[in-house]
Amino acid sequence: MRHRLVGGTAAFLLSLVALVTAQQAPAPRPVDDAALAKPEARNQDWLSYGRDYYEQRFSPLDQITDANAAKLGLAWSFETATDRGLEATPLVIDGIMYTTASWSVVYAVDARTGQQLWKFDPEVHRKYDQLACCDVVNRGAAFYKGRVYVGALDGRLIAIDAKSGKPAWSVTTVDQKQAYTSTGAPRIAKGKVIIGNGGAEYGVRGYVSAYDAETGKLAWRFYTVPGDPSKPQENKALDKALPTWKGDNWWKFGGGGTVWDSIVYDPEINLLYVGTGNGAAWNREIRSPGGGDNLYLASILAINPDNGELVWHYQTTPGDTWDYTAVQPMMLADLQIGGRLRKVIMQAPKNGFFYVLDRATGELLSADPYVTVNWASHVDLKTGRPVEIAGADYKEKGTYIRPGPLGGHNWQAMSFSPKTGLVYIPAQDNGRYYEQPTEFEYKPLEYNLGVGPIGRNLDRYEVPYAGRLLAWDPVARKPRWTAEYGSYWNGGTLATAGNLVFQGTALGDFIAYNAATGEKLWSSWATTGIVAPPITYMIDGKQYVSVMAGWGGAFPKKTRSYGRLLTFTIGGTAALPARPRPRTVTAIASNARPEEIAAGGKIFNTYCARCHGGATILPDLRRSSPGIYTGLDKILDGSLVERGMPRFAELDKAAVAALRAYLLDERKKLVQ
Ligand code: CA
Repeated sequence: MRHRLVGGTAAFLLSLVALVTAQQAPAPRPVDDAALAKPEARNQDWLSYGRDYYEQRFSPLDQITDANAAKLGLAWSFETATDRGLEATPLVIDGIMYTTASWSVVYAVDARTGQQLWKFDPEVHRKYDQLACCDVVNRGAAFYKGRVYVGALDGRLIAIDAKSGKPAWSVTTVDQKQAYTSTGAPRIAKGKVIIGNGGAEYGVRGYVSAYDAETGKLAWRFYTVPGDPSKPQENKALDKALPTWKGDNWWKFGGGGTVWDSIVYDPEINLLYVGTGNGAAWNREIRSPGGGDNLYLASILAINPDNGELVWHYQTTPGDTWDYTAVQPMMLADLQIGGRLRKVIMQAPKNGFFYVLDRATGELLSADPYVTVNWASHVDLKTGRPVEIAGADYKEKGTYIRPGPLGGHNWQAMSFSPKTGLVYIPAQDNGRYYEQPTEFEYKPLEYNLGVGPIGRNLDRYEVPYAGRLLAWDPVARKPRWTAEYGSYWNGGTLATAGNLVFQGTALGDFIAYNAATGEKLWSSWATTGIVAPPITYMIDGKQYVSVMAGWGGAFPKKTRSYGRLLTFTIGGTAALPARPRPRTVTAIASNARPEEIAAGGKIFNTYCARCHGGATILPDLRRSSPGIYTGLDKILDGSLVERGMPRFAELDKAAVAALRAYLLDERKKLVQ
C-alpha cells in the first residue's frame, strides 16, 4: 500500500482520503450482551457505569502513564449550565460521550471536541427538589442496543434513541404520591434494564425493578423489606424477613431499604447484586421497637436476574440504627485468597468496614475497618455479624458515633487495579451525635429520621472530619498508602494501566497519583468541588480523561456551583471559560492560640464545611469582609436566616471565638 501511495494517481489518493475518513468515523458497533461481557474488545470505550460488568473502573489504556501525566492539559470543556451537584459517570461509545447532569438532563457530545450533539431534558417537576434527600443529582445513564437509559429524578425510566436524542419509551417506576426519587444509574442485565430508587429518609418501601429494554414492560420487582403483615408477602424471602421486624411503625413508615445506587451483574454466575439502604426511620427503637435484624436493610442481595428471586443475602449492619446503608458501589474481582482463586464481591459501605464475600455463595471472607469506627469492635468472621460496642445503639443515652450518616465511604465510586492489587477508596472520617428524641411523630413526605438534632456537647469537636484517598489491599486486608485531604466528600476514583489513579476533590483539584506509591504527579483546578468519578477513553490514537465537576450531593441543596465537564489529554492546551476571579484579601490580625485555631477547624468541618468548604460560589469565608468576622456570633445566632444562612444555636461563645480564629488563620494562609 505504501508503494502504491508513493507512485499513486489522483484517483487513488481520493480513494485513500475516503478510506481515512471512513477510519475516522467507523460504523457504530453494537453494544449488546456480547459486547458488555467482553470489554477487552472495546478498551477505547467506556461502555457502562463501572466500565464493565466487574465495575472495577480500571481501564487497560496506557498511553497516559506515571511518566507523562505531568504533561496533561485540558483538551476541551463542556458547560452544563447547571449550578447543582454533578455526580455522573459519562459513557463513551464510538466517539460519542453520553452523560447526565442535574435534574436528570442527558447530553450526547462529541468526545473529541466536547461539541453538543443533542440534549434531552425530561422536565422533572421542580417540587422534587424538596423530595430528594441529597440534591437533584443523577449518577449516569446505561447504553444498550442503540438506546440510552436514564432514571429521572421523579422515578421515570426513559429509553432514548442514541442517534436522535428522542425518547423511545418512558415508564413510571414508582408511586409518585410517595417520596420516591431516582438518582442512580440503571444497569443492563440480559436484555433487562434494572433500576432502584431512594427515599428512605422520608419513609418509603425499597425495591428494585427490571424492565424489558426493548419494550419497557415490567419483568419483575423485588421488594427489599416486607409490607403490611396482615397481607400476603410478595415472595418467600419476605416471609423469612417478616419475623425480624417488631411492632407496626416500620411498615407504616415504609421500612426503607431503598436501592439507590449500586447494582452489579455477573453474567457468568448469573446473579444480580443489589445494595440496600437504611431503615425508615433511621432509629431502630422507633422503627422496630424491641429490636430485630430488620431484613433486608443494609444488605448485599444476590438476585436471580431471570425471575427476581433472592438467592443469598448478607446483612452488613443488622438492625441498622445509624443510616448505615449498604448501597455503596460494589465491585467484582477474582482474587488469590489463602492459596485459592476466589470470585469475590467487595464493598466499603457506610458502616466503616471493608467487606470481601464469595460472590457465588455469599460467604463472608473478610471485613476490616477502613476508617475510624466506634460502633462495633470488629466483625466476627464465624457468625458474619458485627460485634457492637455497648451503648452504640443510643437507647439509654445519646452518644457520638463514627462513622456518621455520610459514611466512611458513600456513593463516590471506588476503583481497583489488577496491576497493583489495590482498591482506591474515596474514604472519609466523620461522625454524628445520635440520641433518642423526646418525641417522634411521623410526617408523610418529610424527613422522618427519629434521631435527635445535632448534639450539644463540645466533645464532638474531638472528632475531626477528614477525607483521604485510601489505597486498600483487599487480600492483605490493610491500607498500602493514603493521600490526605483537609476536605471530605471528595470524588470517585479511576485506575488505569498507566499506573495511575485519578480523583477530584471537594476543593476542586483534579489529581493524578502514582497507583503503586501514592505520589502526586499532576493536578488541575476545576473552579468547583468535584464529587463525580473520572473515566478514560481513546479516539484516533489519543487517550483522554474526563470528569464532571459540580459541587453538591448530600451536602446542602442550597449549595451552588458551576457545572462543567472537563476532558484532559497529554499536551492539551484548551483554556477553561473565565469565571469571576476571587478578590484578593489582606490578613486580619489575630492573636489566637494554636489550640484555639485547631478547635475552630474542627467546628468549621462539623458545621460550616458542608456549605462553605467545597470551592463553591457560596461565600468563601476566608475572603469575607471584616464585619463578617466581628459579627460571627450574630450570624450564627440567625441574623442572616432570611438570606439562607441557618442558625447554629448550639455553638457557644467559646466555639464562635475558636471558629473566628480558624477562619482568620486560613485567611492569613491565602495572603502568604
Ligand atoms: Ca440514608
